[in-house]
Amino acid sequence: MPDLPYVRIEIRQSTMLPQQIGLFSLRKVSGGEVLIDASVYSDIHLLPKESFDSLDQITKQKILGFCPSGPDGFDIPTDLNCISIAWYMNHSCNPNIGFNDSYDFVAIRNIDEGEELSWDYGYDEHNPDFKMNCLCGSEKCRKIITGNDWKILMKDGGKYPFFSPKLKEFINIQKNK
Ligand SMILES: [Zn+2]
Repeated sequence: MPDLPYVRIEIRQSTMLPQQIGLFSLRKVSGGEVLIDASVYSDIHLLPKESFDSLDQITKQKILGFCPSGPDGFDIPTDLNCISIAWYMNHSCNPNIGFNDSYDFVAIRNIDEGEELSWDYGYDEHNPDFKMNCLCGSEKCRKIITGNDWKILMKDGGKYPFFSPKLKEFINIQKNK
């Protein structure tokens, strides 16, 4: 028998970016707690850069807005017309969510009921060509988010543990080059 349902998150109008929607916690969460299990968005595969280039504009825009990337291409869900609400979590330069080594999204700190959830794209993004303006409004806002921000975040004690397994692997490869 499957586990009984347990609702934790929902999408609402974003408080950080009022023109957009975002993901919110419906409950009080303690730091370290898994909020979104990796299985919710594990239908990810790599779309190589060459394949991306051949796509139409509407599909490209969706992928650019939603999907993290590395030097080889984009991590996209199998069906972009049917994606988990977990994909609607916005970026913040002062996030409350990060990854654990199983790819689950975990709370970096205690989170209040009704608080918007956010992660730092720098915890996963490592495409050297990636660039995005940030309007997160946090005091620590980097204003422009790039695919090299992980280098900055590495120096900020305590952030590395929340990097995605894929980014950690990438960093290891860079070190051994
Ligand atoms: Zn920011």
